[in-house]
Amino acid sequence: MKIGVYPGSFDPFSIGHHDVLMHAISLFDTVYVSVLNNATKHPLFSVKERVSLIERMVEAEGLQNVIVTSFDGLLVDYARSVQAGYVIRGLRAIMDFEYEFQIHAVNRHLAEEIQTVYFMASPEHSFLSSSVIREIGSMGGDISGLVPGSIQNMIAERLAKA
Ligand code: ADP
Repeated sequence: MKIGVYPGSFDPFSIGHHDVLMHAISLFDTVYVSVLNNATKHPLFSVKERVSLIERMVEAEGLQNVIVTSFDGLLVDYARSVQAGYVIRGLRAIMDFEYEFQIHAVNRHLAEEIQTVYFMASPEHSFLSSSVIREIGSMGGDISGLVPGSIQNMIAERLAKA
């Protein structure tokens, strides 16, 4: 069984995150999409909201081998706790690379047996970040095509209230 954890803030889950997830489920038997409960960040969507948005999308799309969770603490500890041998991340540009490179080195130091797998962002989504979505949505802009269609309305409504 190849088990991967796709960790992230997902604040909110974007079509770019979705691309990465689709690649991951084609390679792994089970993919955990795991919302990081990071005390040092100030997310707009609560952990509960983010998990339930992703769960709704997974259900709407009938994705069989995806499990949505949240975690806190070290990623490698969490990956071990669900028997995952792989961490999944996405890369958009050089700025992601530097950060990912550093995190990779740290995780490798902590857990040599866990491999990280990277998927390049689709060119059409390489500009896309959760913060862009939050900004557009909170100013009443159209977020269609930027988030999965099945959760677009829920995200737009929540952002309109932000
Ligand atoms: P984090 O705070 O852990 O970076 P994010 O939710 O911002 O969480 O991103 C989670 C992962 O998804 C990261 O590996 C990030 O590089 C990747 N990612 C974010 N946006 C995109 C995108 N548009 N295309 C591909 N990967 C992306």
